[in-house]
Amino acid sequence: MIIFKTVQGIEKVLSKLIPENKKIGFVPTMGALHHGHLSLIEQSKKQADITVCSIFVNPTQFNDQTDFQKYPVTIENDILLLEEAGCDILFLPSVNEMYPQGTVLKQPYNLGFLETLLEGKYRPGHFQGVCQVVHRLLSIVKPQVLFLGQKDYQQCMVIRKMIELAALPVELILGPTHRENSGLAMSSRNMRLSDEGKQKAVAIFNSMQYIKEHITQEDVEALQRKSIDMLLKAGFDPVDYIAICDAHTLAPVDTYQPDKKLVVLVAAFIEGVRLIDNLMIN
Ligand code: AMP
Repeated sequence: MIIFKTVQGIEKVLSKLIPENKKIGFVPTMGALHHGHLSLIEQSKKQADITVCSIFVNPTQFNDQTDFQKYPVTIENDILLLEEAGCDILFLPSVNEMYPQGTVLKQPYNLGFLETLLEGKYRPGHFQGVCQVVHRLLSIVKPQVLFLGQKDYQQCMVIRKMIELAALPVELILGPTHRENSGLAMSSRNMRLSDEGKQKAVAIFNSMQYIKEHITQEDVEALQRKSIDMLLKAGFDPVDYIAICDAHTLAPVDTYQPDKKLVVLVAAFIEGVRLIDNLMIN
């Protein structure tokens, strides 16, 4: 694996691949890698000729400075994991390299409704920062295929919208959420939890499963109340949201409709760490 820290360095090598018609697959990450990330690398290896991964903890997408400062950094281990996974190129830029003109976003992205609810509502400015960094990375790496995890369901929708708005020539492929045997979704932020916290955090998966199993029998509001109670009892505090939404638009639903694809999305804090997860429920 070749590691590049500068835009100039990676662009020089990648531009040589264009005349050779090599298909570039790209997996952007913030590091502290786990099997969820590696599953995207594996997918890219199957579908592209060259796999590029980036590790960049993007300051512009953190609305909470403590969350940014405490974001886990395990770069040496990440490099080993990427080597083992057969990743071809790792892009490891600094903040200056990514934002030579400063971090202020000149033209906000018109994300519309998507930015007004769930993560958009609870993390103001977060998705603008996500679009800013992914747009910049795509303009550097110029992949034909971009691999994202469904673990960040709303983020996938936002990036799809940004790609449309900017008319970028890239195909988006979504990978399934990888979980621990307990059901807990793998996440870099899990590293900040104690063993006990990790056990308690399984309540997120259990509450989503509860909704999935009861959606045809109980009304949506009662299910939401019960599942919030499950999280509070397990030690989550606060619970930002448990929302049952239309899987295509993210509009919240208040009654079950069998012909509509639904997704349940959760965000809640445990041991001061904010976890998010989601599950398709029909
Ligand atoms: P992050 O480093 O958390 O920004 O994530 C980088 C990419 O990995 C994003 O596309 C995430 O959706 C994806 N990802 C994170 N956790 C998981 C997981 N448990 N399973 C699959 N993909 C994941």
